[in-house]
Amino acid sequence: MRVVQKYGGSSLATPARILNVAERIARAYREHGPLVVVLSAMGDTTDELLALAREVSPRPHPDALDLLLSTGEVVSIALMEMALRDRGVPAVALMGWQAGIRTTPSFGRALIESVESARLERHLSGGKVVLVAGFQGVTAEEEITTLGRGGSDTTAVALAAALRAERCEIYTDVDGVYTSDPRVVPKARKLAHVTYDEMLELAHLGAVVLHPRAVELAKRYGVPLYVATSLDDREGTWIGGEAQDMEGGRVVTGVAVDESVARVTLRGVRPPEGALKRLFGLLAEAEINVDIIITSVAGPDGLDVAFSLEAGDLERAIELLAARRSSLAYDRLDAEGGLAKVSVVGAGMASRPGVAAGVFRTLADAGIDVKMVSTSEIKISVVVEREQACRAARLLHTAFGLDDEAAEAEGTPSPQGGRREA
Ligand code: ADP
Ligand code: ASP
Ligand code: MG
Repeated sequence: MRVVQKYGGSSLATPARILNVAERIARAYREHGPLVVVLSAMGDTTDELLALAREVSPRPHPDALDLLLSTGEVVSIALMEMALRDRGVPAVALMGWQAGIRTTPSFGRALIESVESARLERHLSGGKVVLVAGFQGVTAEEEITTLGRGGSDTTAVALAAALRAERCEIYTDVDGVYTSDPRVVPKARKLAHVTYDEMLELAHLGAVVLHPRAVELAKRYGVPLYVATSLDDREGTWIGGEAQDMEGGRVVTGVAVDESVARVTLRGVRPPEGALKRLFGLLAEAEINVDIIITSVAGPDGLDVAFSLEAGDLERAIELLAARRSSLAYDRLDAEGGLAKVSVVGAGMASRPGVAAGVFRTLADAGIDVKMVSTSEIKISVVVEREQACRAARLLHTAFGLDDEAAEAEGTPSPQGGRREA
């Protein structure tokens, strides 16, 4: 039986936690034999390395930045190899390139193109625990890349797929996938099972517990995912397959919050013909991801276009659009940061009318202004002021019957400190 495990930064934040994880890996090794373990950087290391880079260079070169960021994970695998060998467990630590992880050359958000697993297979056959640095790979030109924040989950699933592992276990600081981030919604409930599609939506919409690309890969290769805590042995959450309930099952599975959203509005774009092609072509060329798009009906004053984007891209988008003002021919550009997207997700929504109405009623009754809306078969997202996002999430969580009343009655924080009022 082949298993890939992954331990996140919070599970490795201190030497004591590293030793705790070493004990867990040793136990898994004794129970199941050789396995692959993907590790993240310790605690906030990646943030610290980023801050360090910014102190040296206002706009660090992306390839040099990736080389720097990749070091965090290397520290973890080296320390873990020591700890495991001290425990009599044969272990070998591999950086991404040594583990055969080949990526595209898009520094900072590289995509995994292939995994050459021969070396991994050799070490597994040799009876070893193979520790692999998460979040990193190498290009065809042998430059080190990183996969984007939270990308160690994706490393783990890619390895599980390449090795045809029976499952991929993701160990983190929360004991499973909840109906909402327990840090934001104290009454969030742990889910025993989530489908790939539901998890994909939740992850894309801001539930950082899993990297969206990890869920995508798991779905594509049919790798069952298991999310649990590294701090104790409580049962976690399984992700995979189809919804298990018959038609009476849940309509809404969860509520996700993404707190880094911005909006740009261009007023009076002329001529309206081809305006969208020009505008979004330009943004795509600059690799600026656009999320929700709203356009007005074109009138004599041209077309109004609003779109939301990641807050981190706002400055670049404004610069770009201001520089192209004459070719885009618009009257005014309004930019707004400090927004958030709150999303209600559920596979059962497709066949159940009234969810959107419920969302708007709940928010209107609470005096929360909805700035943008987008829907798909299994989600409804609204953009609101960031200060109101957590309250909106809690209200929607209650309105759709997701609250864990026991949590309310006990009012006790979870052992991981997960239940913190935002
Ligand atoms: P790691 O360092 O292990 O990768 P992350 O910080 O990336 O951990 O992910 C774990 C965090 O995800 C939790 O502490 C929790 O606050 C957050 N989170 C967001 N949405 C959810 C959710 N729906 N269920 C569980 N945790 C969630
Ligand atoms: N260390 C990286 C990050 O902080 C990757 C990860 O933890 O998954 O984003
Ligand atoms: Mg993570």
